[in-house]
Amino acid sequence: MVLVFLESSNHKIKKNSLEVITYGKKIAKANNGKLIGIHFGALDDSDSCNKYGLDKLFILNEPVFEVFDSRLYTKAIKAVYLAENCQFAFFGFNLNGKALSARLAAALDGGLVNGANSFADLNGGFKVQKTIYSGKAIATYQIVAQHKILSIASNTVSIEENPSTCEVVNFNSGIAASEVKVKKIKEEKVAGEIPLAEADLVVSGGRGLKGPENWGMIEDCAKIIGAATACSRAVADAHWRPHHEHVGQTGGAIAPNLYIAVGISGAIQHLAGVSNSKTILVVNIDPEAPFFKAADYGVVGDAFEVMPKLNEALKKAKGV
Ligand SMILES: Cc1cc2nc3c(=O)[nH]c(=O)nc-3n(C[C@H](O)[C@H](O)[C@H](O)COP(=O)(O)OP(=O)(O)OC[C@H]3O[C@@H](n4cnc5c(N)ncnc54)[C@H](O)[C@@H]3O)c2cc1C
Repeated sequence: MVLVFLESSNHKIKKNSLEVITYGKKIAKANNGKLIGIHFGALDDSDSCNKYGLDKLFILNEPVFEVFDSRLYTKAIKAVYLAENCQFAFFGFNLNGKALSARLAAALDGGLVNGANSFADLNGGFKVQKTIYSGKAIATYQIVAQHKILSIASNTVSIEENPSTCEVVNFNSGIAASEVKVKKIKEEKVAGEIPLAEADLVVSGGRGLKGPENWGMIEDCAKIIGAATACSRAVADAHWRPHHEHVGQTGGAIAPNLYIAVGISGAIQHLAGVSNSKTILVVNIDPEAPFFKAADYGVVGDAFEVMPKLNEALKKAKGV
């Protein structure tokens, strides 16, 4: 049996979790086993559960899980994992997935690879790859422990449909209210902003934009295509943009379908946070900029000429 940890937004399973389902389904099929999902909180997405191949979904909707606490979540995940006789547990490679996979591996004395970005080679052992040294090398690992646990980088597999009939189980973990250590006092959503970590499309600017007063063309582009905005660390350090927008080794790690990098050199520390993007478009005035080596599409040109034209073309294409 394979257990997959699912996350949702507005009651719909997130894209990265659908990828984890696809990954888990392949492993379950190869082992003639079932695919079990676990989700904390209410979920109204039976369409996705049936479409992408879950055999069973455990919903844990108790008040003790209102605040994410990796200690309590792991306790419940371990209970489901053992009750369902699982040998594999897969998570998304994000903050929650990293915390839970590590705790679960410790609790089960299992083997963990964080940030796997290849499909597991099942011939001759469970071998997976991941990038190391900020993307400079690819390492292959074999999990030899009985319990095999992965957090899986975004875009490692393409989401596939696997029609199934998913049984939904409302599971009571039995965790007592006295075990809760943190309570949420209030939550205020930032209106209008697309969260960077979840964005499908990201438009990002670097020091090549010369100053914060020139960010209008980045924001316009993002608005037209419905993208989140990001920046290099040099830009955040100069206080041109808020630090939560900074991506890279010391900033956020993202994996959108499309990453548009404007006036960013492509230093290894920047690439470390964006190289899992499915498609990368680079706009840079310098044809020797290192970012072009990592790009799928490149425009050698002055951002101040290219971006207004790109925005006009996008507006036309979108009919806005
Ligand atoms: C330990 C450590 C951790 C780090 N972590 C991070 C991190 O997490 N994220 C990160 O981003 N950086 C990180 N850095 C910094 C990183 O090494 C680079 O210094 C930084 O990414 C450079 O930002 P930049 O590309 O915006 O600026 P620059 O290096 O100044 O590059 C600007 C680019 O804009 C181009 N350009 C100039 N004018 C134009 C124009 N008119 N039109 C188009 N292009 C133009 C230039 O050709 C150049 O390629 C880290 C560094 C260290 C040492």
